[in-house]
Amino acid sequence: QSRSGNQIREDFLRFFEERGHRRIHSSSLVPHNDPTLLFANAGMNQFKDVFLGAEQRSYTRATTSQKCVRAGGKHNDLENVGFTRRHHTFFEMLGNFSFGDYFKQHAIAYAWELLTSDRWFGIDPARLYVTIFEGDAQTPRDDEAEQFWIAAGVPKDRIYQLGAKDNFWQMGETGPCGPCSEIYYDLGLEASETGEDKPFGEDDQRYMEIWNLVFMQFDRAASGELTPLPKPSIDTGMGLERIACVLQGKLSNYQSDLFVPLIAKAAELVGFTAMSPEEASVSDAKGAASLRIIADHARAATFLISDGIVPSNEGRGYVLRKILRRGIRHGRLLGQEQPFMHQMVYAVRDEMQAAYPELNETADRVSKTILGEEQQFARTLQLGLSQMTNETLASGSLAFRLYETFGMPLDFMTDAARDAGIEFDMEGFERAKEEEQARARASWKGGSQKSASPVFTSLPKTDFEGYGKLRIEGAKVLALV
Ligand code: ATP
Ligand code: MG
Ligand code: MG
Ligand code: MG
Repeated sequence: QSRSGNQIREDFLRFFEERGHRRIHSSSLVPHNDPTLLFANAGMNQFKDVFLGAEQRSYTRATTSQKCVRAGGKHNDLENVGFTRRHHTFFEMLGNFSFGDYFKQHAIAYAWELLTSDRWFGIDPARLYVTIFEGDAQTPRDDEAEQFWIAAGVPKDRIYQLGAKDNFWQMGETGPCGPCSEIYYDLGLEASETGEDKPFGEDDQRYMEIWNLVFMQFDRAASGELTPLPKPSIDTGMGLERIACVLQGKLSNYQSDLFVPLIAKAAELVGFTAMSPEEASVSDAKGAASLRIIADHARAATFLISDGIVPSNEGRGYVLRKILRRGIRHGRLLGQEQPFMHQMVYAVRDEMQAAYPELNETADRVSKTILGEEQQFARTLQLGLSQMTNETLASGSLAFRLYETFGMPLDFMTDAARDAGIEFDMEGFERAKEEEQARARASWKGGSQKSASPVFTSLPKTDFEGYGKLRIEGAKVLALV
């Protein structure tokens, strides 16, 4: 009997509580006092001022399970979702923090104990790999971390060194920064990208990053120069969904108990019967990816709206709208043309209320907001669809007109073209779009207040998230929708 996701969250927090950490509730997804941040995207966000020394707390050690959304801004995993096994738009980041209290040695020893001790997670060390910072012109190789990993029991040949992209962290251009160490789990040959038995570093699917330990050790000046911090600090982050995948012996986060019930609900709501929810959680088949996307986006939309965001045409509200419409679109791909996303909210609440009791209060409001968006989007589509002909799809400039005037999503048109066996005129579409942008720029420069675009400019536009632009972060495309 493996641990449930809820149990894993609780065990993590309890492990660090027993080691002197204060348990702090997740902060809101909407960062207060930080206009540079779109959404909370890491556990350390709510402690930023504490790390900077601008705020004092009555404790020097903390542990959290932080709600995170990475669907825009610096971290954007939106287009990974459905296609990789380890990315979500909304996920929970488990973390332990030291504000000038313990440092590298203890952070490493704690992490290794939690993961491998039979009293705790009991992971077979033979499945684990560790990375350290390889060093660069300004910063030496992190030999210290290597020594502490070895002391904790990691064989030297399991320690790899990586460059700054993966293993050096900084809060901004200046300020606190330092090397990090990551822990990876070998999901086994079954999870491999190609079916070949490749070593660590050469198979992005098989070896999954589970935990990142950041050693805040330096202060970077505007000149770029680094000086050691008087009180170095610790910030760590481990994805709950990833450790649940590992501890439940699965190949994908979506196979964990945090997702299967949501995938089952999505299947029920859209009338998908081609395979079981368990199969859909990992299958490469086209409809399966859509179900995973719906499950993921339902979590993100539920938590974002619960935290006060409403769909709109800019900023945070626009990202929410994009997430919702993408979820709705995948329901349509599976044949569901009636509103359904608003019902996913109650499934999300049922799964998550133990850790986030506020969902009990907000679920009705959230569901109503989503229903409103589904109805509005249906009207947009209805208007646009009534104008969409084979001729429109074959002509990029006509298709662009539909996109611009009715807010008709590009991916709907490319899908429709494919269904009708018509080659969509992407080049013409892009050309029309560029011409329109040039016109808008010209009229802006001329000081004219008049918009260059045709009527109905207030209708929401949707972004193209289609096939040509898929950016898959170092991972195999599991299925193309
Ligand atoms: P990856 O390389 O897999 O994209 P990352 O290096 O971007 O992950 P970090 O910024 O180091 O991730 O975040 C700390 C931890 O949070 C990761 O080790 C991982 O367990 C988890 N995590 C990060 N992004 C996601 C995501 N989109 N969905 C689920 N978990 C995530
Ligand atoms: Mg990432
Ligand atoms: Mg990484
Ligand atoms: Mg990382």
